[in-house]
Amino acid sequence: MNPTLLALLIACGTPTASNATDEPRWLRGNTHTHTLWSDGDAPPETAVAWYVDNGYQFLVLSDHNVMQTGERWFDIQPDGRLTPEKVEDVRTRFGEAWPQTRTVEGIDSMRLRTLEELKARFEMADDFLLVPGEEVTSSHRMAQIHINAINVDEALPALRTGSVQDTIQDNLDAITDWGRRNDRPVLGHVNHPNFQNSLASSNLARIDGVGFFEVYNGHRSVQNERVGDRPSTEEMWDLALIARLTDPKGGEMLYGIASDDAHDHYDPDAVSIPGRGWIMVRSDSLDADAIVKAMLEGDFYATTGVELEDVSVTEDSLVVDIATRPEITYETVFIIATPGEDGVRTDLVRTTADPAVHRFKGDELYVRAMVRSSRVHPRPYQKGDVETAWTQPVRPAAGGRSGDDPK
Ligand SMILES: [Zn+2]
Ligand SMILES: [Zn+2]
Repeated sequence: MNPTLLALLIACGTPTASNATDEPRWLRGNTHTHTLWSDGDAPPETAVAWYVDNGYQFLVLSDHNVMQTGERWFDIQPDGRLTPEKVEDVRTRFGEAWPQTRTVEGIDSMRLRTLEELKARFEMADDFLLVPGEEVTSSHRMAQIHINAINVDEALPALRTGSVQDTIQDNLDAITDWGRRNDRPVLGHVNHPNFQNSLASSNLARIDGVGFFEVYNGHRSVQNERVGDRPSTEEMWDLALIARLTDPKGGEMLYGIASDDAHDHYDPDAVSIPGRGWIMVRSDSLDADAIVKAMLEGDFYATTGVELEDVSVTEDSLVVDIATRPEITYETVFIIATPGEDGVRTDLVRTTADPAVHRFKGDELYVRAMVRSSRVHPRPYQKGDVETAWTQPVRPAAGGRSGDDPK
């Protein structure tokens, strides 16, 4: 629906207790960004400020195998990752007193601000939140196994166990166990499966419980797209979903995430910059536990720019209501997986209607939607990319988002 029309309808309505903060709303967030705490090119405050300034409600700084805690001094060097110009930029943007610098034995350095300090500086009650996290960065032989731990605020060691699958599962289980011990909702998302041809759809298929993975990662070396015989991350999603949901033991959903994986916070056309992909999570409060809970229920979508008014599953349909913008056209593709005698058939049904509606026949294994706009991405992963959104797979039953018996 056109947002202007919606605003008009709201404006004409009877005033109610509309300031209540417990009204569910879509929160824009990125769960994957790096800073100088690991291999990013910016002090954390510079990275965070971009997201604050660009309309995000939450951000996870997901440095490799480290939390932003403790005292850490970073050398300032003209040809290093922290240059005198970057320190000057911090001083200009955040005030004379903000950067803490020192000189020891002739070497200048700046102290990296901790997550606690960043929270104190940037968080705003209903507007911006830093969710703690880490990119648990492991490997098995040639396979890179990177998993983002979301809402975990102590560094979990990267486990390396007997196989690719065990390494994935053991790291995911360590995240789940940490959440259980700390009585906190947490989740782990498997990152960039095609990076260095590391993972296959079968690895995603065999993740225990509800799974999360990056269907889109903005880093230009991760290969989201199909190359030769190697499926795209989106094709891997369907292959894994079909395997999971036809598993006689009752496999659960696999949800798709879009993220930046930003390392480069200065050059707007660098390999991995902020603003390429993000998620929209429907939550009644800007709170890390509430955000993770909503994600565990599949109440979010992934996007590189297309915004949705609503995604709803009723008894008889999946409805995708697009927040259309003038001069831009939209095509929704419903991906419909249906079991048959010769295995699972996948049909693509296209529509330019808004809202886009798929009426359940009742025998679908799952249905998901991809909405592609005509708008060229202003900060693209690949030149010419158009803004796209992916809704989560659902099953044709009321409340059938996750955990139901597939039969
Ligand atoms: Zn990674
Ligand atoms: Zn990363």
